[in-house]
Parts: sequence; structure tokens; C-alpha cells
Amino acid sequence: MAVINILSPLVADMIAAGEVVERPGSVVKELLENAVDAGARSVTVELRGGGATYIRVTDDGCGMAPDDAGNCFLRHATSKLHDERGLEAITTMGFRGEALAAISAVSRVELYTRRPEDDEGTYVSVAGGEIQDMHAAGCPKGTVFTVRDIFYNTPARLKFMKSDRAEGSFCVQQAARVALGRPDVSVRCVKDGKEEFFTPGDGRPESALYALLGRETALTMLPAEGENEGVAVAGFISSPAAGRGNRATQFFFVNGRSIRSQSLQAALEQAYKNTLMVGKFPACVLYITLSPGAVDVNVHPTKNEVKFSSEKRVFDAVYYSCLSALEGERGTLQVRLSPSTEKKLAPQPAVREAPADSGPGQMAMDLRSPAISYGTARRSAPAYPAPRRPSAPPARPQQAPAGRQAPPRPAGMTVPPREKQAAAPMPEAPAQEPAPVRVAGEVLRTYIVAEQGDKILLIDKHAAHERMVFDRLKAQGREVMSQALLTPQTWRPGPEAMDILAENGALLTELGFELEPFGDEDMIVRAVPEDLDPAETASALEEICEKLQKGGRDLARDGILQTVACKAAIKAGWDTDPMEMQVLAEKVASGQIKYCPHGRPVAVTLTKKELDRQFGRIL
Ligand code: ADP
Ligand code: MG
Repeated sequence: MAVINILSPLVADMIAAGEVVERPGSVVKELLENAVDAGARSVTVELRGGGATYIRVTDDGCGMAPDDAGNCFLRHATSKLHDERGLEAITTMGFRGEALAAISAVSRVELYTRRPEDDEGTYVSVAGGEIQDMHAAGCPKGTVFTVRDIFYNTPARLKFMKSDRAEGSFCVQQAARVALGRPDVSVRCVKDGKEEFFTPGDGRPESALYALLGRETALTMLPAEGENEGVAVAGFISSPAAGRGNRATQFFFVNGRSIRSQSLQAALEQAYKNTLMVGKFPACVLYITLSPGAVDVNVHPTKNEVKFSSEKRVFDAVYYSCLSALEGERGTLQVRLSPSTEKKLAPQPAVREAPADSGPGQMAMDLRSPAISYGTARRSAPAYPAPRRPSAPPARPQQAPAGRQAPPRPAGMTVPPREKQAAAPMPEAPAQEPAPVRVAGEVLRTYIVAEQGDKILLIDKHAAHERMVFDRLKAQGREVMSQALLTPQTWRPGPEAMDILAENGALLTELGFELEPFGDEDMIVRAVPEDLDPAETASALEEICEKLQKGGRDLARDGILQTVACKAAIKAGWDTDPMEMQVLAEKVASGQIKYCPHGRPVAVTLTKKELDRQFGRIL
């Protein structure tokens, strides 16, 4: 008796779907990649309920003809590959023709699409892999995919989903990856009605980097560039002083596709050999371009891994480009945007209501100049004087970059001359916009007086700045930027505090402190969060120990960030620069900052009407 069944196409699709659609984030990635493949200049990704309940991707790309709009949901339906020869040189993100089949097998999908040359578009709805409805429809040119109720018909999968928060942030990360890979396409990502990020699509990697990774990271990046036997490398890598606690900020793109590769990771990290602290990792956004025939992208259904025909060539290209960027570092090379571009890239106040939960796209503004926040310790780090091969033992292991130089490069390897690297490319400055708020001055060395429309704002400068720093620290996620102290400080915490510090060592490290026991009673403090004035180290740590004693872990984390923000913020009684006041006033006026981290209001408003009434101008 026969025991072998041929699975129905739906079951086969559901099994295959598991490989492509692991989580809602996979749907975001596939739909966004399809939009990019369709030649879109601008794409909007909207999410609700962690993506599982609702994902909508709207593009202004080439659209689909009515027949294609129905056929695109079939398995192996693709316009990107015609025969086996095409597989040898893939130039699009997609080619397997299975994403839409997989997505529609496990969710409810609606599609509106219209080609620019057609008068009318097409509407299609699909659920569980079956077309439910299809008819002509009026719609803008381009394509809108709406995906609802992911895994509604595969309860086993549904069980594996994480919280909406976790899935939602994975969706945003996936969108950010695609956006970072294609700086020529403008991507807006909105989650639960709030803008998570917006890339301008001006074709400049630094604009995308700035918008997606934030100003803090952008400021620590050095341009890297080079070419080796047909493999071109361009992008940015972090300065050795700005090592991170994990590899989450390492982005590699091969011909625009975000990939994971242990060999590229090794090439990058080897370039930093002996210049990064142990346990720290460099950040990078590196674009590797090579002939499509020299890379096989058909290794895995998610297309996150690739095979190079010559791993060595690619390894060398990355390694030497990074090495040369690090040699060229003078401690001050940074991605910098003009203030007006910063402003243009800033999140739209209209859709950002809760700065405290800001996502990865948050663009945090710092009141202090980069030179100050960059820290003296780093700027005084020595350059790379003595020639040394990377295999030779380092003169001063685990210290700031010292005593290194590049080993001989492979014959064909070129890197740009220093002067070229030193000039970090800068996005063009768009025309200045008029400032919406005017700062009239400061009173009692405590309150900023600003005017906006017919309102007068009185702003508590310390409270407002404290909130700004706090939001920025929170937005940095798990790792807070740290500064090495020029002279490590010793500090005597007292026996109880010593125990608390030992218990919370990992948390403090995440938040930018580096502490080490010194004898039985003392601690050596080697690094503190970048925002903290080193002179405040002991008082900050004392306050933190007190909070750790009281609160749970989450409370403790926020508590520590609050302490850092409070110590880092400008204080009442200090002289404050007019520029700083302007930035604060704008943040407050835009509604991004309302309360200090302790819940006190940051501003008091007086309207013209109220004043006129007081003066008896009106009754
Ligand atoms: P692949 O991208 O591998 O070709 P998909 O299942 O993702 O497979 O998409 C199937 C086909 O549907 C694509 O080849 C393309 O022709 C069409 N398509 C999908 N999304 C879009 C879009 N946003 N705009 C235009 N065409 C699209
Ligand atoms: Mg696709």
C-alpha cells in the first residue's frame, strides 16, 4: 500500500513559507525589497501591533499589469529571472519568486497596483494562498501591499512570536537594513502612528547612516574606501575609541544587499587588532561592490548569506580599506552634516509624541559641540607611528591605537590618498528654513524666554536639557557611549555599595561605566558614560548605588540614565550659549520635550491673550 502522499500546493507553500517568513520582520524585508526592485524612489512602511496585525508598504515604483497582479502570488512567479543563466549574475534583491507566495500562504494580503502607463489599476485580495477578490480599481501609480493577521492559519507559528514590542522593533530593524543598503531610495518607517525613521534618499550613505544610526554613532565614524581586484569597498567604520559592546552595529552590504558574513566580520575586526579594548567591537557600514557574477546570492531562502568566488579577494579589500582608514585617523574625522541637513532629517514632531520610547531612528541632538563631547581622552590618543605587521606582538596591547602600520597591501589594492579620506563627504546643505521659535533671552540664569507665534515660553533650561539627554541615552538602546578617563579615578564606595556594584556590574558596563575592584575597599573607574563630566564620577556613582539598592532592574536602568542625564545637563546658574538655548527652545516648542525625567514640566506658557487681559487691553 502506498504511504507517500503528494502534498497539496497550499501545504507545500505553507512549509516553504516557514523558510521565508519567519517573523513579521521578514515580511517587511521582502515587501520593501520588492519595492526597491520595482524602481521606487520613495517607500513608506507602516506597522501596527508588532507587524503581525498590520504591515503596509507603499511605493512609487513600476507597478504591475492586471495579469501580473494576480500571478505575483503564485510560487516561482518572478519577473526578475528568466532562465538558469540569469542565476549566475543576480542584480535584483529578489529572484526566487517565492516571497509573495509565502506571505500570502500565511496571512491576508491586499494589493493595489498601477503602472504609470495604465489609466486604471488592479485590486487583489488573497487569504491563505487563495485569491478572494480581484477587480480593476482606481489607485495612484505604484504599489501598495497590505498584510494582515500573519500566521492566522498556522497557530504553531503564532506561538513562537515574541511580544509586539520585540517583533515591532525587529520589523523596524529590517526596514532600516534595506534603507541603509540603498541610500538612493527614500524610506519612511512608521510604527503605531509614530515615525521611526526617515531617510532622504539623496544617494549619500552618510545621510542614511545619520538618519538610521543617529548622530552619536555618525560622529564616531571614519570614511573607509579601497579597491582590490574588482572588489570596491566604500563606507564608514567606527574610530577605535568608540568600540561597542556587541556587533549589532556592523552592517555589510554586497551590491546593495544586507548580508551576514563571518569572513567580512573577521576582516573588519582584524583591522582593529590591538587598538580596541578586549570585549569591544567596531561598528561599520560598508558597501562592497563587485561583479554580480563573482557572488552567489542563492545560498539561503532569506538571501542573507552569500558566497564569493574569491573570499580572499573580498577579505583583503575590506581589511586593507579599514586599516587604511584607521591609519588616516587623526581623531577628528567624523561624518558631519550641516545643521540644516540635521534639521531636515530630524523626526517629524507631528508623528512623534512620546520621546521616551523613541526607536532606533531617533536623531538625538546634543547641545555640546562634537569636539567637547568627543572627550579629551580620545583626542589625545596617539596616531599610528611605528611600522608594524599585524601579526607582530603589539607593543601596548589593549590600549588606544599605538604603534601600528599597515602590512604591505596586495599588489592590486588601492586606497585613496589621505587628503581624500580626510575630507568626509558632506551632504549638501539645503536652503535655511526660518526658525519657528525666537529666543528672547534668559532670566534669573535659569529660565529661557522664547516667543513662538502668539505664545511666550518660559523654559527651565536644566529640566529641558536633562530630558533631552535622557531621551538620547534611552534611544542608544543597550549600549551607552562611554569615554575613557584620561586618568583613571579611584573611589571608595563603602561595603554595602561594593556588594551592589558587584551584583550590577554587567548593567553598569552596558551603561558606559568601567569599574574594577582595587584592593578590598576601592574601585578604579576607567571609563564613564560619554555625557558625564569626569569630575562628577564619584557623586554620580554614589547616587546610582542608592538607586540600585531601591529599584528593580528596569527601574535601575532608567534610574542610572536619569542620574547621568541630570549630571550631564546644563545647570541653573550656569552661563548658557544662545545656540544651546535655541536648540532647547525648538525642542520644547515642537512638543518633543514636555517633562523632565522626574516628571516636572519643562516649560510654562503665557499667551498674548492672557497678557493682554492682565494689562487690560482686552476684557
Ligand atoms: P521575487 O521578488 O523573488 O521576484 P516575489 O514573490 O517577491 O518574488 O515577487 C513576485 C513578483 O511580483 C516580482 O518578481 C515582481 O514582478 C512582482 N512584484 C512584487 N512586488 C512588487 C512591487 N512592489 N512593484 C512591482 N512589482 C512587484
Ligand atoms: Mg521579492
